[in-house]
Amino acid sequence: MFENKGRTELGELGEFGLIEHLTNNFKIRHETSVKGIGDDAAVLHSGDKEILISTDLLLEGIHFDLAYVPLMHLGYKAVQVNLSDIYAMNGVAAQITVSIGVSSKFPLEAVEEIYKGIELACNKFNIDLIGGDTSSSKQGLVLSVTSIGYAAKEDICYRNGANEGDLICVSGDLGGAYVGLQILEREKQIFLENPNIQPDLEGKDYIIERQLKPEGRRDIVDLLAQMKIVPTAMIDISDGLASDIMHICKQSEKGCTLYEDKFPIDPMTYETARELGLDPTVCALNGGEDYELLFTIKQEDYTKLKHDVDITVIGHITDKASGCKMISKSSVVHELKAQGWNAFKL
Ligand code: ADP
Ligand code: MG
Repeated sequence: MFENKGRTELGELGEFGLIEHLTNNFKIRHETSVKGIGDDAAVLHSGDKEILISTDLLLEGIHFDLAYVPLMHLGYKAVQVNLSDIYAMNGVAAQITVSIGVSSKFPLEAVEEIYKGIELACNKFNIDLIGGDTSSSKQGLVLSVTSIGYAAKEDICYRNGANEGDLICVSGDLGGAYVGLQILEREKQIFLENPNIQPDLEGKDYIIERQLKPEGRRDIVDLLAQMKIVPTAMIDISDGLASDIMHICKQSEKGCTLYEDKFPIDPMTYETARELGLDPTVCALNGGEDYELLFTIKQEDYTKLKHDVDITVIGHITDKASGCKMISKSSVVHELKAQGWNAFKL
């Protein structure tokens, strides 16, 4: 069927290239579709608040490994990473739907564990579970979450609103989820070679939690509202700081300068990265899965947040021609590269 068309490997396009390729002929037909493909969530117009919708698909063996991800954590994380996209629009999530494909190797008790995690996340973030779909699966566990949120039109933050001179801010700290994953992978290998050895995760709680139990930053959305700051652009860090700031720059048609010495890296992340022979800066730039919020603000808003310990200014927006740069601790200029996680290049 595809013989005359030749054959193009999906890996050549990458995730974003593939999405663009498949969807660029689709035109928006309704005025109510304020924003379609291309941001953290779609924006629909309805009444006095806009509706935000985002969906994610998690596949066993691609996005998670049941060898070290407890099922309850999986349910919790599946919801959190999805809510994170609503928060990245500066909105508040209110509902989710959950769809699952389960193979017969799972007993009821296992699926219940996943739902315990989903329930925990719903309780913690005040979310209603309003539907979904259930099917059997022949190839491992499939979990898809769609979340629905709300925001006033003037509060919504797109990826394309950054202006030259804006400050680049990030919540929390970076690289922890990736370094936590490296520890889990290491212990899995040791276990596979010798099942009698128990995993040694001692003292690594914070980074293991960053990997297994990320939290969407609803608190930052509330904090920004309190401080009366509407970021000019925002995204959540799912693929890594480098990849995600480049999404903002590309869509805003701007460049950026980041300062390595400003990157918020937790001491445990830093020390463990070193122990594993990894560069903590590279973990912060390319690790991904931190689910922190990365946003740009007008310079005049700086005084409103400069005392907040949970938000760090890491750089500023420049013109497009200057490109995306990082100034290292030794003042060397590096071109940023989006080496984020890519499901098609494993
Ligand atoms: P995020 O990392 O924030 O979840 P993605 O990188 O998954 O965002 O998606 C980028 C954009 O592409 C989003 O607007 C998403 O809805 C859209 N998208 C992703 N996959 C598809 C698809 N198969 N068909 C249509 N739109 C898609
Ligand atoms: Mg996102």
